[in-house]
Amino acid sequence: MPGRTLMPLLSRSSTASSRPPLQTLRAWRACTHRPRSLVSPVIRRSLSSLPNLPLFRALHNHDQSNLAVVHSASARSFTYGNLVADVLQAKEKLVESAGGKQDGLSGERVAFLAENSYDYVVTLLSILASDAIALPLSPAFPIGELKYIMDNSQAKVLVATEKYAGKAQDLLKADLDRTPVLVVKEKIKVGAHNSGSVSLEDLNAKSRGGMMLYTSGTTNRPARPLRVLIPQSALTAQAASLLEAWKYTPEDRLLHLLPLHHIHGTVNAIVTPILAGSSIEFMFPFNTDAVWKRLAAPFLPNPSTTDKITFLTAVPTIYNRLLSSFPGLSPEIQEAARKGISPESMRLNISGSAALPTPTKKAWQDLSNGNVLLERYGMTEVGMAISCGLDFADRVDGSVGWPLPYVEARLVDTDTNEVIKAGEERDNNGREREGEIQLRGPTIFQEYWANDKATKESFVPGEDGKGEWFKTGDVATRRVVDNAGKGTSGEWAQGSMYFIQGRSSVDIIKTGGEKVSALEVERELLSLPQIAEAAVVGLPSDQWGQKVAAIVVLRPEAKTAGRNGKTWGALDMRRALKDRLASYKMPQEMKVLEGPIPRNAMGKVNKKTLVKEVFGI
Ligand code: AMP
Repeated sequence: MPGRTLMPLLSRSSTASSRPPLQTLRAWRACTHRPRSLVSPVIRRSLSSLPNLPLFRALHNHDQSNLAVVHSASARSFTYGNLVADVLQAKEKLVESAGGKQDGLSGERVAFLAENSYDYVVTLLSILASDAIALPLSPAFPIGELKYIMDNSQAKVLVATEKYAGKAQDLLKADLDRTPVLVVKEKIKVGAHNSGSVSLEDLNAKSRGGMMLYTSGTTNRPARPLRVLIPQSALTAQAASLLEAWKYTPEDRLLHLLPLHHIHGTVNAIVTPILAGSSIEFMFPFNTDAVWKRLAAPFLPNPSTTDKITFLTAVPTIYNRLLSSFPGLSPEIQEAARKGISPESMRLNISGSAALPTPTKKAWQDLSNGNVLLERYGMTEVGMAISCGLDFADRVDGSVGWPLPYVEARLVDTDTNEVIKAGEERDNNGREREGEIQLRGPTIFQEYWANDKATKESFVPGEDGKGEWFKTGDVATRRVVDNAGKGTSGEWAQGSMYFIQGRSSVDIIKTGGEKVSALEVERELLSLPQIAEAAVVGLPSDQWGQKVAAIVVLRPEAKTAGRNGKTWGALDMRRALKDRLASYKMPQEMKVLEGPIPRNAMGKVNKKTLVKEVFGI
């Protein structure tokens, strides 16, 4: 609704909150490389306005006294009222930095370096509110990598929080193709309050804002990452889809443990909770002890907080690390932490970004007195696409569930290239047909930035004239599961479920005319008590085309678990899996690593690099 005022809600928050009154204008200092025009005063609009888009309409509608962001370590907290006021101020400064024209940043890339904090949320929303494209940079990246991203995206502005001001300065010295305006942002210690009237205003033209994230792509994994452009409309659709499926509420407190330059940490754990009016509690970098203590806190004899964590979204590695560190906690913390993750306290615990091993799921369920991890599948280009349901019966082992609301999914047979229709999931020999997951709908990204070729290669035309399909490069099977998919988790969660077999480029191993899913073999390896970690890969073989090989990390007890008290080895592994895996799926080689398998920030293994490192191929 254009021109709708935010005043009543904002003034309510000012009186309801015990925080200090009007925060002085946050000092955004435009430092070096500031164009001359910025030095002269800019004309201020009398009204502060946010774009009339769903995310900002939601911000407007939330109870402004509700907590939006909490910092675990410092116990600082910020209400939705603070957030609206801070976003408005940040937006104003951002627009000023780009010359003062309200639409001056429309469609421009604004890169930013910010720690996991309220400052990140304010910066992200202020960029979206300026109709610009938010490009979060990982502070952990070296300058060379950041230069590549800046040059590729041609960012007009670089925002850095105080903490990363030095890094931003170093980046500017790296001889960038387009020199951005640098805006250094002071840390927000106390949230702002709004003193003036605020309106929601329609954009003059179609929104050109959104988010740009980096990925290694779907088809042929290029040497350098691709930039995925996710327009505002897709971001909103992705968040709306998750809201409908996972039912985030204003009562939810989400513990945020993830990096913020990936889709999981941003869309699932910031944009959607903000759309829903939930609270986000930042606790980064991930530290097992600190997380357990936080989960336990409300249940300790003298609680430091009574706020329970109701929502946890993480990757399998995080759950594994929490599980393996649990025995080291004091009995008091253990007891309280178990209450903290029980279904009565933690409404929803989600795993994704990589396959969830069944033993991890089972161990979490046992520890939490029955909380079942909900697995979902997604990727940078599409947000979340397929998910299990809220009903425990709809969280089936090894499955990622059903296409989420607004997502259309299909499987295209990897042998025949035919669409696998409902009821045709098995071939004439009764074997499950494997197909590439293809997706379409409003949640899908727009393009790989400045890379028409990659964009074109990733889509196939729809024969029904209803739009193109995005080729994910992931292979799955589909089947109906007894007692699941009855619609109890929502209308979308019905019918046959998807089972991910892996990425076609690395996880589908072709050996002697058969196809082996690396994920299936990994699942079996991980079910053995001697194995702590496993990655299954295909190695070139003159005889078979490819052969299955396993790279594993053993548990300490494996040292003496082999025959005659020897170290458990490849022979023992084959013996243990004899009745569980067909012989062509059995790893022909097994390499034992001493340390953990190298993973990226999201717990994913880069198998191509791993094969090179371990086998020198
Ligand atoms: P990214 O774009 O970096 O988030 O990576 C997306 C990829 O992660 C997908 O294409 C899948 O290969 C993988 N992935 C995501 N979720 C799952 C899951 N639940 N099980 C298996 N693989 C997954």
